[in-house]
Amino acid sequence: MTRKPKSRQPRNRDIDGIRFQCQGSGRCCLTRDGYGYVYLTLHDRRRLAAHLGLTTLKFTRRHAEKTDGWFHLKHPDQPCPFLAKSHCRVYRARPTQCRTWPFWPENMDARVWRKEVAPVCPGIGKGKHYTAEEIQRLIETEHDVPGYR
Ligand code: SF4
Repeated sequence: MTRKPKSRQPRNRDIDGIRFQCQGSGRCCLTRDGYGYVYLTLHDRRRLAAHLGLTTLKFTRRHAEKTDGWFHLKHPDQPCPFLAKSHCRVYRARPTQCRTWPFWPENMDARVWRKEVAPVCPGIGKGKHYTAEEIQRLIETEHDVPGYR
């Protein structure tokens, strides 16, 4: 699940309930509005490195770079490099921001939701209903990903 750079993420939170179930389309792993940042926490880099049989240092050198002090996968102007025919090649070890889509602070804005999230994600409006309290808890699991400080 790719996202805009930190500097372009709005902070409003006016969504108070969401029905969502991932449909496996992979559409959220493409660039959105010209950007495809997949930010990586230290824990994400360690988990992905282990999944790929690499040291964290090798994984970071091979797959990550830093912008504004934040690690992310290389080539944020392109679809995620781990996306293969709408499937995530590292699904079991996928980054935190991918695990918590669409419950990102920048998506909890009614206008962003209507114009940028709902049209690209076929999982919106399907499956489990998440209350505002559940959404807040999911958002808090991403405390070390950009946009959460
Ligand atoms: S790591 Fe997997 S889930 Fe995350 S953006 Fe890339 S392909 Fe999608």
